[in-house]
Amino acid sequence: MPTIEQQAAKLLEENSVRRAPVPVEAIARAVGLDVRYAPTTDDVSGALIRNGKSAVIAVNSAQHENRQRFTIAHEIGHFILHKRTDQHFDEDFRIDYRNAVSSEATQRSEIEANGFAAALLMPVKFLRNDLLRVELGEGDADQEIQTLAVRYKVSSRAMELRLLNLGFISPL
Ligand SMILES: [Zn+2]
Repeated sequence: MPTIEQQAAKLLEENSVRRAPVPVEAIARAVGLDVRYAPTTDDVSGALIRNGKSAVIAVNSAQHENRQRFTIAHEIGHFILHKRTDQHFDEDFRIDYRNAVSSEATQRSEIEANGFAAALLMPVKFLRNDLLRVELGEGDADQEIQTLAVRYKVSSRAMELRLLNLGFISPL
């Protein structure tokens, strides 16, 4: 059983993605997901709507572009990691909401989807290359996180968490 990091890395490789920013919508389409945008209230980021073998990612287009990218990556994570076996039921729709509560990542599947999203948008391989050029800790770490966040088109908070989780920076 490949790890979440390995599954995200495989997807990047299959799509010949070698540099940031990762074209997350193109990857979604490459795995057969349709991506649709609609503005909605702020407590919903997106949804994965399954109907038999096809699936659609709905993205809250009222949110920041970086957040939308994370939402798409998160929903790809659900699609790949959480394959349902009950899609023969008549009520065939599976909806995974990511709202303000679940983004606290208390549920296991939410933690996994967020981990997948981070691995897809901020591949360890890419970060390692970028960090080789900049010695974090020697300069202004906040400034470097900001620079990387812009390059990877993620929020600086997402980048900070990723670097912390990878052990590339230490908590203050
Ligand atoms: Zn989710």
